[in-house]
Amino acid sequence: MSDCLFCKIISGDIPSNKVYEDDLCYAFYDIDPQAPTHFLVIPKEHIRSVSQVDEHNAATVGHIFAVIASLAKKLGLDSYRVVSNIGDQAGQSVHHLHFHVLSGRDMTWPPG
Ligand code: AMP
Ligand code: ZN
Repeated sequence: MSDCLFCKIISGDIPSNKVYEDDLCYAFYDIDPQAPTHFLVIPKEHIRSVSQVDEHNAATVGHIFAVIASLAKKLGLDSYRVVSNIGDQAGQSVHHLHFHVLSGRDMTWPPG
């Protein structure tokens, strides 16, 4: 999508601090980190949020979770949190599916 921030990051039109990339997904550090380690993993296909995951794109989402597990191992993350906000009330500010991976500090539950 031409007016999507994360599509522009994937295309390289907007710079990012890349963690990982393959044919299906792209991972990069969050510009406003909420933990000592905070990166985002996004599909290269424009999907608005988890609410648009269906039988056609579910394999991509499954792949993203395999990538998250692999990156966490590679980065030595013993404990971490994976978050995806869906819609305005949950705090979604970029409408391209993304999974936050946060690690390196004590976390509370329930989240705010
Ligand atoms: P959310 O609020 O759940 O939609 O998450 C969007 C995330 O994207 C926020 O944590 C932002 O800090 C992050 N973000 C926004 N612009 C950029 C950017 N140019 N590079 C990296 N992260 C970004
Ligand atoms: Zn997009």
